[in-house]
Amino acid sequence: MQTSSRANRIQPSPTLAVTAKAKQMKAEGIDVVSFGAGEPDFDTPDHIKMAAIKALASGDTKYTPSSGTLQLRKAVCRKLQEENGLEYEPAQIIVSCGAKHSLYNIFQAMLNPGDEVVIPAPYWVSYPDQVLLADGKPVIISAGDSSKFKISPQQLREAMTDNTVAVVINSPSNPTGATYSPDALRELAEVILEHPTAVAISDEIYEKIVYDGREVVSIASVLPEMKERTVVVNGLSKCASMTGWRMGYAASVKSLAAAMDKIQSQSTSNPTSFIQPACIVALEQSRDFVNMMVEAFDQRRRRITELLNDIPGLTMDLPEGAFYAFANASGVMGKTFNGVTVNNSGELSGYLLDHAKVAVVPGNGFGLDTHIRLSYATSMENIEEGLRRIKEALAYNASHSSHTHCAVRRWGGWKNG
Ligand code: PMP
Ligand code: GLU
Repeated sequence: MQTSSRANRIQPSPTLAVTAKAKQMKAEGIDVVSFGAGEPDFDTPDHIKMAAIKALASGDTKYTPSSGTLQLRKAVCRKLQEENGLEYEPAQIIVSCGAKHSLYNIFQAMLNPGDEVVIPAPYWVSYPDQVLLADGKPVIISAGDSSKFKISPQQLREAMTDNTVAVVINSPSNPTGATYSPDALRELAEVILEHPTAVAISDEIYEKIVYDGREVVSIASVLPEMKERTVVVNGLSKCASMTGWRMGYAASVKSLAAAMDKIQSQSTSNPTSFIQPACIVALEQSRDFVNMMVEAFDQRRRRITELLNDIPGLTMDLPEGAFYAFANASGVMGKTFNGVTVNNSGELSGYLLDHAKVAVVPGNGFGLDTHIRLSYATSMENIEEGLRRIKEALAYNASHSSHTHCAVRRWGGWKNG
């Protein structure tokens, strides 16, 4: 049967693929430590679950307006006003089946063939493929470890052309945790405003998962003109640990919201009816819960950073936000371990899964092939055990050399060099 060129031009989501593979291995009885899943390991709080159970029991089981109930969209408006200082009306809010779905709708509603979308790398895996699905052209600009994975205004200026329709901003970032300061966002906003019609698509799904008292603001709020030029994307997957529920939302100007609503009404219709009252509860009452998670993630962040840097060939600075360790593995590329040579992030991840039974996501899906991503939204025991296994799998194989002491020194050299 024919498959479309549209479907053929994209890849399956690598993050979901690694997670599924690790789950499958576990189901087969293999003892895998998984750092794949980009989801909090905490259960959804009971008071949110109870609200959904109550809605289900009371017959909230029918279609709702395609963009979500008015009550839910009003609750989103209150959230954006109180927490982000952004004023919207319910007609500007579209609730969808996850922030991924919101982003999909945005690109479908916004792009014409050949329109360019600037995406800073490392990027979350789905942005370029969603742009391609909408016949757009991803324009990738890269920021590495040395710039703390943050692009400069100058880089953005050089990447934008008359064909630039949007710039994706994801702060805090998946996979790097990089979090732009309000001043840095203002400088990027100034560059976007140099182009009369370009907009920011601001993915703020990790806004509450930041460390060391770092300030997080929306790019929509850094200059008065920016609100009209920003599409804010957020959801409950991360901050209320509701990944399986599928709830995300976008806030924008009314014309784009109407176009998204039209697309949603002809595709998925409304987000699930009986989760919507529970999403209001989650929007209003998950502050203590997220604070508790962030405290736990912070401890794990420190530990995983320490353990990663203790492995010869791997390096990483303390991530600023989100719950991912994006480790630089260039020190092990081209080396042979247990007879397996690893030349890129895919081969390294494959080797770690086969030999150490540890699942990590290769950096190539995020636009940086020298790195691997480990989600530390998992228990401290898993972190200790997983990193022990990685260290062992990447230990210098003494059979390659009769001078063990020399080998140990050589490893130290890679690290420092
Ligand atoms: N944006 C980013 C940066 C993400 O990491 C994710 C991962 N889940 C999403 C959007 C989508 O989240 P969801 O569809 O679960 O709301
Ligand atoms: N966003 C999460 C991740 O990066 C979940 C998987 C996905 O939606 O791609 O792992």
